[in-house]
Amino acid sequence: MADLLRLTPDGLYCEAGDFHIDPWRAVERAIVTHAHGDHARRGSRRYLCSREGAGVLRLRLGPATNVTPVEYGEARTLRGVRVSLHPAGHILGSAQVRVEYGGEVWVVTGDYKTAPDPTVRSFEPVRCHTLVTECTFGSPLYRWPDAGAEFAKINAWWRANRSAGRASILMGYSLGKAQRLLGGVDPGIGPVFLHDAVATMTDAYREAGVVLPLATPVANAPLDTDWTRALVIAPPGVEGTSWMRRFRSFSTAFASGWMALRGARRRLEADMGFVISDHVDWPALLGAVRESGAERVRPTHGFTKLVARYLREQGLDAAPLETPFGSEEEGTG
Ligand SMILES: [Zn+2]
Ligand SMILES: [Zn+2]
Repeated sequence: MADLLRLTPDGLYCEAGDFHIDPWRAVERAIVTHAHGDHARRGSRRYLCSREGAGVLRLRLGPATNVTPVEYGEARTLRGVRVSLHPAGHILGSAQVRVEYGGEVWVVTGDYKTAPDPTVRSFEPVRCHTLVTECTFGSPLYRWPDAGAEFAKINAWWRANRSAGRASILMGYSLGKAQRLLGGVDPGIGPVFLHDAVATMTDAYREAGVVLPLATPVANAPLDTDWTRALVIAPPGVEGTSWMRRFRSFSTAFASGWMALRGARRRLEADMGFVISDHVDWPALLGAVRESGAERVRPTHGFTKLVARYLREQGLDAAPLETPFGSEEEGTG
C-alpha cells in the first residue's frame, strides 16, 4: 500500500485526502502546523490551522488569507481521511497533525518541544504507527539546561547592565521566542520595551489570552527615555543597524538553542548567549518517539540521517524524509 503521506515537489502530500501539510508552494488545501516562515507560506487557496494559531497565521500571510481554524482534538474528515490537530508546545497555536485513514495513523509533529513553557499549550503525545518528527536539534550534542536556570542568568545579566548604566538588548525570534522571553524575565528589574516586530506578535499573543508582563513598544517610548535600566526584546536582525543607536550604551544577548555549543557562542555577534530553545533536544526527541508508540519514524528538518541511523539501531523502521528546505528559518531555534 502507498504511504499515506509522501513528499511531492509542493511538499508533504496526502493523496487520499488531497491536502498538503506545511507545503512550500501554493496548493489547494494547506494544513499548517504553525506560523513560522519555513512552515507557513503564502499563496495556497485554503488553510487549516489551530484556532489559537489563526491570528498569528493571518498576521504572517495577510488578512485576506482563507483560514479555517479548528480546535485542538477536533476531527475533520477530508475525503474520508480523518485529520486533527494536537498541541506541539512550540509557539502560540503550534500543532501536530494526526492523519488517520483505513486504520493507519500518521502524526506530523511540525516544530515542537516537550519542556514546559507558560506562553504555549503543552505538547501532548499522540499515538501513531508512523511519526514524521522534526529534528532541528537531533544530535546528542544538544541537551538543554533547565529554562528556569537560563532565565536566572538573563535576569543577572540585566541587573549587571543596569548597575553599569547600559541598556540590555535581548534578541530572539519575533514570533514565539520573544514572547517566551517576555514571559520569563523578572519585570521587577526595570522597564521592558519591545521592537515593533515583537510588539505586533506580542499583541496577538495577548489577544489569544496569553498573560504577559507589561511592555512598551520602542516606537512609543518618549525621546528622553532612560534606557540604562531597560530590557529591550528585539529580533536578531537589529544587530548593527541604525535602530540600535538610540540606546547609546548597551549590551547584547541572543537566546537560542544554537547557543548550546561553545563554537556558536564564539562566532556570535552578541555579548552573551542564552540557551533557550523552542525545539526538542536529543533526550526529549527520543522520549517523544517512544511515547508516540510509532514503529516507523521519518525524521525531517534537521539532523535527519543521524536520527534515522540511531533509531534503526534501536530496532525501529526509520529513514530520513528529506525536504529541499531542510534548514530552520534563521533564528527560530
Ligand atoms: Zn517553528
Ligand atoms: Zn521549523
